[in-house]
Amino acid sequence: MFILGIETTCDETGIALIEAKEDKVKILKNELATQYKVHQQYGGVVPILAAREHKKNLPLLLKNIEKNFDLRKIEFLSFSVGPGLLPALVSGKEFVQDLAKKLNKKIIPVDHLLAHFYSVLIRNKIGWQKIKEINFPSLVLIVSGGHTSLYLFKNWQEKRKLGETLDDAAGEVLDKCARYLGLPYPGGPEIEKLAKKSKNYFPLPKPMLQRGYHFSFSGLKTAFIDLVDEIKKYKKIDEEIPNLCFSLQKTIFEILIYKLKKAKENFKVQDIAISGGVAANQTLRKMVKKNFPNNKIYFPERKLSTDNGLNIAFGGYLLFKNGTLPLSYQEIDVYPRSI
Ligand code: AMP
Ligand code: MG
Repeated sequence: MFILGIETTCDETGIALIEAKEDKVKILKNELATQYKVHQQYGGVVPILAAREHKKNLPLLLKNIEKNFDLRKIEFLSFSVGPGLLPALVSGKEFVQDLAKKLNKKIIPVDHLLAHFYSVLIRNKIGWQKIKEINFPSLVLIVSGGHTSLYLFKNWQEKRKLGETLDDAAGEVLDKCARYLGLPYPGGPEIEKLAKKSKNYFPLPKPMLQRGYHFSFSGLKTAFIDLVDEIKKYKKIDEEIPNLCFSLQKTIFEILIYKLKKAKENFKVQDIAISGGVAANQTLRKMVKKNFPNNKIYFPERKLSTDNGLNIAFGGYLLFKNGTLPLSYQEIDVYPRSI
């Protein structure tokens, strides 16, 4: 069957077309329009501008798919219902509803965080591929620009949220601190690059370590900004930037690993999946592998770790395969907050 997936939760507009059959999937198109240039000057994503860009880009991306494919052949549409930015989600929803009405097709709403998790099971390659298997219960950490959430999945659909950030997301802190250092947006990859040049650690606080599985990063962000201001009083900040990047990244990743370890000890965890934009970080990947030598660890391929339509199309397929029924266009809604 053919499935069209649509992603508009944040600052990436994505539409993808896949073909799927039993435990196999084939990526036919994965169209993406990234908006980072629009938001770069503001140092973060501006929701209303994101919505405007989605509205502009969605028809253009769809045209690229329609060129070689008759959309009436799709089984259903899948679209990312949230969590995400409300205006951005609404622009996606309206587009999907119009398209579903026009094609007389139904829709499977896909939780964006679930799609990040599922994305670890496929590869970004041409031709048919077998979907990777995962052993439940699985521990799933979604760590991105908008989320830092830890879930325990009993099976494909049954998830229990163990904890999430009570303030900033890990990626958001990387972006904001990078901005304070005068580095370009998005800050995560810049910080990763610069951190490689240093091994000097400035101690930074690790808030909320003892409070269950929740995270809190805003205190760390403030401590980092205070540290930068302090350094600026007696020397040029430039020479300390690699050390600052190294310290910030290390602190955030140690917090993530601490919570993962705690969850692993308390639940009978088999496999671990880490997804979302920050999961692209090679240092984080190495640290996780080192700390969990006896678990199978899944990361998404680099291209699939940020937001895209393919994850949503694939998520729709796995839900459908596991019994989710598609809805009519009048029945769908969006959910800005995570559940
Ligand atoms: P997402 O919200 O999933 O689209 O991912 C975007 C977030 O991932 C931003 O906060 C980026 O700074 C962060 N990010 C992307 N690549 C990396 C990297 N290599 N290391 C750390 N953070 C990253
Ligand atoms: Mg995302």
